[in-house]
Amino acid sequence: MTNIEYRNYVGGRFVQTTRSFGDVDPATGAVRAFVHEADDSLVAEAVESARKSLRGPWGKATIEQRAAVLDRIAAGIDARAADFLGAEVGDTGKPAEVAKALDIPRGAANFRTFANLIRMASGEMYESATPDGAGALNYTIRRPLGVVGVISPWNLPLLLFTWKVAPALACGNAIVAKPSEETPGTATLLAEVMHEAGVPEGVFNLVHGFGANSTGEAIVKSQGIDGLTFTGESKTGATIMRQAAEGVRPVSFELGGKNAALVFADCDFDKAVEGVARSTFFNTGQVCLCTERVYVERPIFERFVTALAQRAKAMRIGDPWDAQTQLGPLISREHREKVLSYYQLARQEGAEIVVGGGVPDLPGPQSGGWYIEPTIWTGLTQRARCVQEEVFGPVCNVMPFDDESEAVDLANDSAYGLASVIWTTNLTRAHRLAGLIDVGLVWLNTWFLRDLRTPFGGSKLSGLGREGGRHSLDFYSELKNVCIKL
Ligand code: NAD
Repeated sequence: MTNIEYRNYVGGRFVQTTRSFGDVDPATGAVRAFVHEADDSLVAEAVESARKSLRGPWGKATIEQRAAVLDRIAAGIDARAADFLGAEVGDTGKPAEVAKALDIPRGAANFRTFANLIRMASGEMYESATPDGAGALNYTIRRPLGVVGVISPWNLPLLLFTWKVAPALACGNAIVAKPSEETPGTATLLAEVMHEAGVPEGVFNLVHGFGANSTGEAIVKSQGIDGLTFTGESKTGATIMRQAAEGVRPVSFELGGKNAALVFADCDFDKAVEGVARSTFFNTGQVCLCTERVYVERPIFERFVTALAQRAKAMRIGDPWDAQTQLGPLISREHREKVLSYYQLARQEGAEIVVGGGVPDLPGPQSGGWYIEPTIWTGLTQRARCVQEEVFGPVCNVMPFDDESEAVDLANDSAYGLASVIWTTNLTRAHRLAGLIDVGLVWLNTWFLRDLRTPFGGSKLSGLGREGGRHSLDFYSELKNVCIKL
């Protein structure tokens, strides 16, 4: 029986509620913590505390004071890295080596990056003429949006949560944030770090719960929220957008993907195989940027499929705390049922299952976890639902193409437009195609290499707006123009 409890953090206090739900370890299926669910009145209290904090010292804090707070939060995450690691691996089942190298350090890096960016941010300044010849000076200042609602998903919990919380704080906003119900752990630890770092009460509020008809919807519908930033499924984004229209509030959306990799015959073959294996199976396929459609130039198609299948077969599945493990479980029983339903659908749609397609038989505690086999399909048509719909699991369909323009057409034949990867040693072609693919992010001969200053986001169903670097500062603040007659 677990004694871990995740509480809400509202108005600078940790708050218990009368309703709680279990937080399940996906690697074993066991309940690892209990989470106090925030009801509508606690969300309203969180919004009110946030509004009040903007009228207090936080509303008058200088950029340097805010940046110093962000630096202290980053140091606080570093100091408690082992606790964050335990919570992240417990909540997601992802290999500890991955969380140690990526999720936890990126949580701290998000705060450091936006502390530095806000210190360096500059505005516009124009001198203009006036009829009397005296002239005028215009300059811009950045003002916070106000109270920002942050709603985040479960796949990279700390990384994606801090990706929004850090710039929102840097810009001087107050926050009401909800992590995914599947992964409440690291967000709660972050509230403790904020508390210890001296974030004024009410500036950061954390409320736990579900989406529709629960905490998430209460945040979205609250008229005390001035802007909403959301990462999750495209259809959830559409619902939130409808609800946010009331009050004409800005939204920033990072949504789903059905990302293509284009592999040309002139690629560095081994690197391309390794790269596509990584972009398909990393985090058990549960990254919005993962590849689910692989298009390979016909002369190397058979060889590529064989090599990719060998990679998939060799993957070590199991205990996330074993340093050899490469593939953890899916996030939940429901999500595994969804992914397995696509494994089934692929058969009905005529796929050849090159490798995988089922559930692995694991010994010990992991026999109760939500594991699934890495899977490769061939033979599906471009119109198959398995080629058009986001699965969000460790699976891709591999299809041949004959020339460059067909490759571009296939990549663009999707309702989504998040990311693409091109594998070729012909750099002229790489640059040409980078401009032709309808996505927000293109990687050439690599994948998931991120510089936090660069714009991040998708087109079509994959999102609205860009975050990252100054684009985050632009979303989380409003520019005010000041004009002085000289
Ligand atoms: P989801 O949309 O089910 O949930 C995301 C968050 O929204 C959760 O906190 C959930 O409780 C909340 N929510 C759900 N319905 C809501 C509603 N009606 N009102 C308010 N809040 C609501 O998504 P998920 O299953 O947690 O995450 C997986 C999805 O996220 C995939 O589609 C993936 O591609 C996408 N994703 C996108 C990016 C990106 O940067 N583009 C990054 C990571 C994940």
